[in-house]
Amino acid sequence: MRSFVLLLALVVAFVASRPSERQNLHGAQVLRVVPRVDTQLHYLQGLHKLNQYDFWSEPKAIGHPVDIMATAFQLPSLRMVMDHLNIKYQVMIPNVAKLVREDYQARAKAPKAMDWTSYHDYDEITAWLDELATNNPGLCKVSDVGTSYEGRTMKVLTLGTGAADNPGIFIDGGIHAREWISPATVTYIINELVNGASSTYSDLLAGVNFHFMPVINPDGYAYTFSNERLWRKTRSPQGACTGVDPNRNWDFHWNEGGASNNPCADTYCGPNAFSEIEMQVVRDQINTLPNLVSYISFHSYSQLWMYPWGWTSDLPEDWQELDSLAQDAVNALTAVHGTSYEIGSSTNTIYLASGGSDDWAKGAGNVKFSYTVELRDTGAFGFLLPAGQIIPTGEETFQGVLVVGNFVLSYTP
Ligand SMILES: [Zn+2]
Repeated sequence: MRSFVLLLALVVAFVASRPSERQNLHGAQVLRVVPRVDTQLHYLQGLHKLNQYDFWSEPKAIGHPVDIMATAFQLPSLRMVMDHLNIKYQVMIPNVAKLVREDYQARAKAPKAMDWTSYHDYDEITAWLDELATNNPGLCKVSDVGTSYEGRTMKVLTLGTGAADNPGIFIDGGIHAREWISPATVTYIINELVNGASSTYSDLLAGVNFHFMPVINPDGYAYTFSNERLWRKTRSPQGACTGVDPNRNWDFHWNEGGASNNPCADTYCGPNAFSEIEMQVVRDQINTLPNLVSYISFHSYSQLWMYPWGWTSDLPEDWQELDSLAQDAVNALTAVHGTSYEIGSSTNTIYLASGGSDDWAKGAGNVKFSYTVELRDTGAFGFLLPAGQIIPTGEETFQGVLVVGNFVLSYTP
């Protein structure tokens, strides 16, 4: 135990605190470490709580890989400590700066008009939603539903040709700013339903209303384009630091584990539940829209299709129904490109994380089939998934969403 404390002290002494603003990523790497015994796991959990490194995935259990990004300055001490503790690691991403540079260069060359061969910023996505509504008045409706902390208009796009109280599905993306594949996938799904083989979906769209918010953390997302590619949180001022983890901010067993009270931490739950205006806006939509049967929130990465709960390892009473629909959705997803997904409750699949949107949607918002989906990949690129993977990710995920859509179409409570 004494050496454990000494090591923690060593890390604190040697590693500069993570800057809350622009990071120098030159020489930064992502290391994958796999805890093999309890002491290693507990050490990693302690290290995570110290908030010195950018953990791309959190220490959960023995045998589960943990991805940690370290800057050039941090790498020697991180390696030294891992060696000392005999924790095996491999370099997952040898050159983070290069991938970030490639993302920005691809962006600079990309067309402003919406497509799925490049990533698009918040303004381009919202302009496209308006354009869809103008061009497809019988099918699409766009509503301005709120304003972000920095003043960006938040919009909901509703697709459906039937009654307003038809069973509904609410789909959001971009709650974590750096997970760019999430808004790209949500817009891909919208585009398929609107501009794809539309006659194929006419029964579905006559019987089910789809409500989409592709980017529910607009300020954070904009910041990843303008300043810091790996920013995760919102952009509200929180004392000496900035931003709240919007997926720890929901008022259902808020701050009951797997969230931080440190305003500088990436998993900061906020000064109170629903402190973030953007999450209030989404909450009000879920509360207002009639007859929602399913909620899907898209994240990356890890390839997981998860259902509640995230605040406890207990399962909801009806978990078998949620599990069965998830199995069907994942089977359809995997059939497209062979991409494998894990299925399970959030706590049992990744880790305890209270204050998540899916827990709230089910526990407080009364949306029965509530899911959090972690899209591609499993860590080769992590949050920096190349734009060339948007279309295959969209193709496979769309098939999973269609399964949920058709299930909702024929569902009777
Ligand atoms: Zn996320």
